[in-house]
Amino acid sequence: NLTQRLSGVIKNLRGQARLTESNIQDALREVRMALLEADVALPVVKEFAAQVKEAALGHEVIGNLNPGQAFIGVVHRELTRLMGEHNDALNLTTTPPAVILMAGLQGAGKTTTCGKLAKLLHDQHKKKILLVSCDIYRPAAIEQLRTLATQLGIDFFASDISQKPQDIALAALDFARKHHHDVLIVDTAGRLAIDEAMMAEIQQLHATLKPIETLFVVDAMTGQDAVNTARAFGEALPLTGIVLTKMDGDSRGGAALSVRHVTGRPIKFIGVSEKPNGLEAFHPERMASRILGMGDVLSLLEEAQRGVDHGEAEKLAKKMQAGKGFDLNDFKMQFVQMRKMGGMSALMDKLPAQLSQAAADSKVDDKSINRLEGIINSMTPQERSHPELIKAQRKKRIADGAGVKVMHVNQLLNQFEQTQKMMKMFSKGGGMAKMMRSMA
Ligand code: GDP
Ligand code: MG
Repeated sequence: NLTQRLSGVIKNLRGQARLTESNIQDALREVRMALLEADVALPVVKEFAAQVKEAALGHEVIGNLNPGQAFIGVVHRELTRLMGEHNDALNLTTTPPAVILMAGLQGAGKTTTCGKLAKLLHDQHKKKILLVSCDIYRPAAIEQLRTLATQLGIDFFASDISQKPQDIALAALDFARKHHHDVLIVDTAGRLAIDEAMMAEIQQLHATLKPIETLFVVDAMTGQDAVNTARAFGEALPLTGIVLTKMDGDSRGGAALSVRHVTGRPIKFIGVSEKPNGLEAFHPERMASRILGMGDVLSLLEEAQRGVDHGEAEKLAKKMQAGKGFDLNDFKMQFVQMRKMGGMSALMDKLPAQLSQAAADSKVDDKSINRLEGIINSMTPQERSHPELIKAQRKKRIADGAGVKVMHVNQLLNQFEQTQKMMKMFSKGGGMAKMMRSMA
């Protein structure tokens, strides 16, 4: 990923006083390569690289950041900017019912997203929702929406498939008015590829319904193809937003850049599972981090530089690099570092998703950190560097010393083992170790 690519660049740029045309050449090439790997479309990559170059040149290297880190900061900021800076929420401020029209290819996730949106607007915004399907070509598609609606307890308008899509839509709109629905969500038919009949049909639907939101639903896994689809829909319809589905898959998020770029419309949501609750607001900054391959790299580095004992970080990095020798002393040192960096909760937001999940799984929080530290303090130096020595009798002694139960000592040893595994995992990728090293 981009971070791995850039870590080499960081090293090369180290010692340079500022970013210049010549010393960022390699870095820019890595950015281009990484974005292509992340499935960003070529024209978008080119334009983006040019923007990064412009922003990076004349960028003063501030404070403790070395030019490599400063460069990553520029990339992160430009990525965020390209994707729109902030989350754009749905706009439903109109005389009810507010109509939401879904557009997109078959299989993009329109019907699923209809259900997710209905649930979200119902649960979080207490809206009264009506769902209707205009997919008259596939009765199964209408059934799919009906089933979803029933499951979620959302009102469903039964379509008469002998009618034209816009007549069904009008009937649903009329029904929604009479029954005081706040929102009408209109599912539509999609084709496997863009064709004129489909575009004409959805344009007619749009003209009939005058929706306040016209959402283009696109599968993030389609990568490069997403660009062409987005362009076609963007030209046919005045889109108000984009839903990027299947972001839980292998997608590296590149489609987010491309789709935003070609349509100029904001990505409002991402789909993160098949389940009805698998819809999240889109946050450009987080997506930039995802494309970069990790959490909020720059602010993590900044905080690290402010608070962390560089000598310790370097030692830890070495051990992690080797993938062994990580002992309870290091485990404890991590808590100390964490506290300096604002505690676990502050850190969790910024860690790469995988690592932050691992931390969550190991149930380390700010309160338990203090207890864990107390327990380790009750151990002898020998026990700390050779945790495998800690058997029943020693456990009892340590527990008594720290004023906890043996159970807590066992918990700590389990957490230690998990962390050790995690460290090995990351040291294999080299990512975390490199990151710790770059802090030092
Ligand atoms: P439509 O043809 O555009 O209506 O697409 P569907 O809503 O029927 O979705 C096609 C397939 O994609 C279904 O199997 C969905 O369960 C799946 N799907 C939709 N959105 C997501 C998502 O965000 N994540 C995952 N993993 N699957 C999704
Ligand atoms: Mg469908």
